[in-house]
Amino acid sequence: MTGASVPVHTLLPTTIVGSLPKPSWLAEPEVLWSPWALEGDALDEGKHDALRIAVHEQARRGIDIVSDGEQTRQHFVTTFIEHLSGVDFDKRETVRIRDRYDASVPTVVGEVRRERPVFVDDATFLRSTTDRPIKWALPGPMTMVDTLYDAHYKSREKLAWEFAVILNEEAKALEAVGVDIIQFDEPSFNVFFDEVKDWGVAALERAAEGLRAETAVHICYGYGITANNDWKATLGSQWRQYEESFPLLQRSSIDIVSLECQHSHVPMDLIELIRGKKVMLGAIDVANDAIETPDEVAGTLRRALAFVDADKLIPSTNCGMAPFPREVALQKLSALSAGAALVRSELS
Ligand code: ZN
Repeated sequence: MTGASVPVHTLLPTTIVGSLPKPSWLAEPEVLWSPWALEGDALDEGKHDALRIAVHEQARRGIDIVSDGEQTRQHFVTTFIEHLSGVDFDKRETVRIRDRYDASVPTVVGEVRRERPVFVDDATFLRSTTDRPIKWALPGPMTMVDTLYDAHYKSREKLAWEFAVILNEEAKALEAVGVDIIQFDEPSFNVFFDEVKDWGVAALERAAEGLRAETAVHICYGYGITANNDWKATLGSQWRQYEESFPLLQRSSIDIVSLECQHSHVPMDLIELIRGKKVMLGAIDVANDAIETPDEVAGTLRRALAFVDADKLIPSTNCGMAPFPREVALQKLSALSAGAALVRSELS
C-alpha cells in the first residue's frame, strides 16, 4: 500500500482531473496521444508499472483522491471507443471536433455495443495499489459523439443515448471493483449549448443512473494545445460558457461539477449556479508550465469559498497534464496540496 504515512483529508480533499505525463519508456513524452513504445506483455506490464508510479507520486505529494493518471490509455475518448463493437477504426473521416479543429476520427458503421469490460481490470489494479479513495474518468456521451463520424445512426442524440447505456454498464462495473467516484468528461458542454439543453444533460444522467458511487462531470476549455489556446483568445474577458450548463446540472442527479478556474477568465460567481453540488475547482493551470506557488493556489481556493461551502470544495487541476514534462506535473501536484493545506489550516 502506498502513502499510508500521508494523511487523507476529508476537508478540501485534493485530486487531479485527468492525465499525468507517462514515463518516456512507455510513450513519447510531452506529446498528446503519443503511441505506445512497448508491445504485447511488455506493454501490459509497462502500463501497470506506470500506474503504480502515478499512484505513488500522488500519495507522496498529498493528493487525497487518487486516479490512474490515464497511464493505461492513449486518448481519453478513443481508447474507450476502441473496446466497443460497431466502430471501424480503419475507416476514418476528417471532421471538425468541438467546433474548433479538424481531426481524423473512426466511423460508426453499425450498432454500438460493449462486448466486454473496458477499464475494469485497470481499475481493479488501481484499487489494489492504494487505500485512498479512487476516481475513474470516462468520456461523456456527447463528447464521445463529437469524436466520431457517424455513418449508422445519423443522429447525434440517438448515438449519445446508445453510448450513455454503454457507459452506465461500464460505470456500474467500475463501482463494483471499488471505484469511489466516477467522472464523466464533457468538454463538449462548453461548446454545443442547444444540445446540452436538449439531450446532453439527460444522456449524462442516463450514464450515471443507479450508481452508488459519487458521480462527477468535468467540463473544461481543453488541454493547453494551440487550437484550444487560439479559441480561448476569442472568448473575451469573461468566459461565461458555464452559465449554459450549470443551471441544468444544478437540477441534475450528478453529485460533483468539475470546472476550470486557475488563470482562466471564468467569473468565480458562476459557481453559485451549481449551489448544493460539490465543486471540483481547477486551481492548477495546465496550459502553462510555470509552477503555481502554494499562496497562489490558496488565493484561488479562498475566492471560491465565497461561493461554495468548504465541505463541498475539492481542489483539483484544470484539466489533464499529459503534455507537461513529468517533473513540472509532479511539482504542480505538490503546489496543489500545499495550497489546499494553507486554506485548511485557516478553516479549522
Ligand atoms: Zn479537461
